[in-house]
Amino acid sequence: MTQSPMWKELTAAEIRALAERNATVLLPVASMEQHGPHLAVGVDTILCEGVCRLAAEAIQDETPVIVAPTLWCGMAEHHMAYGGTFTFDIPTYRSVLLAFLKSIERHGFKKVLIVNGHGGNISALAAFVQDFAVETGLKICATTYFELAQPAMEPILEDQERIRHACEGETSLMMLFAPALVRHEKLAEAVGPSVTTPRPLRVDRYRSFRSFSETGVVGDARRASKAKGERLAAACRDALVAVIRDPEAWGEAAPPAHAAQGDATG
Ligand SMILES: [Zn+2]
Repeated sequence: MTQSPMWKELTAAEIRALAERNATVLLPVASMEQHGPHLAVGVDTILCEGVCRLAAEAIQDETPVIVAPTLWCGMAEHHMAYGGTFTFDIPTYRSVLLAFLKSIERHGFKKVLIVNGHGGNISALAAFVQDFAVETGLKICATTYFELAQPAMEPILEDQERIRHACEGETSLMMLFAPALVRHEKLAEAVGPSVTTPRPLRVDRYRSFRSFSETGVVGDARRASKAKGERLAAACRDALVAVIRDPEAWGEAAPPAHAAQGDATG
């Protein structure tokens, strides 16, 4: 029988053996927050772990891989007004993630792909990744799975071009991964603005999600389906597998001839 790629389902000895084989660790990081009138608050955690499991199962015969336990809390202050939501502040989030990475490192793993499943975590992770590269000996990549897979997801979605919130996309994926947690009788109400209001040029300002969505939805869940969820999940799986395989993503590709010039600005 094929061994599970999930850290939480393995014994310590099985995990040590994967470290000896230099397995790539997928670390899902998500959130626990309101997802409109029709979805349970665990959406981001369930979906992020779900696509990581699919990717790991798809690639584990080709290269060793393990999916670390999902960090279910993230940066979700903007959802607190609806109830049902947990949030970190930045220093706590940074500390918890660093503790996870150091635990992974102490067991002998060398490569970690942080797979994010929550929009509110994106800017924090982009900032942390540089610090974490210095503060650990790990090779760390971070990506947000639904942005990574966006080009492949766009043709599957009818009412939006990318994942929004508690939307056609997330609801379809929940119909696949956790159908019992979709309140079908509330689907008719699961509509919000099609996009979050664009921020004014050159100004950052905190806004509660509630200031632009009464329902807690951005997008429209009414045309969600399990069939779409299956196609979306496959797109996310394939995009993650491509990153695990890609030497360029890990800084392991041969440098181009002009590399000495660099591409850094600022
Ligand atoms: Zn979500």
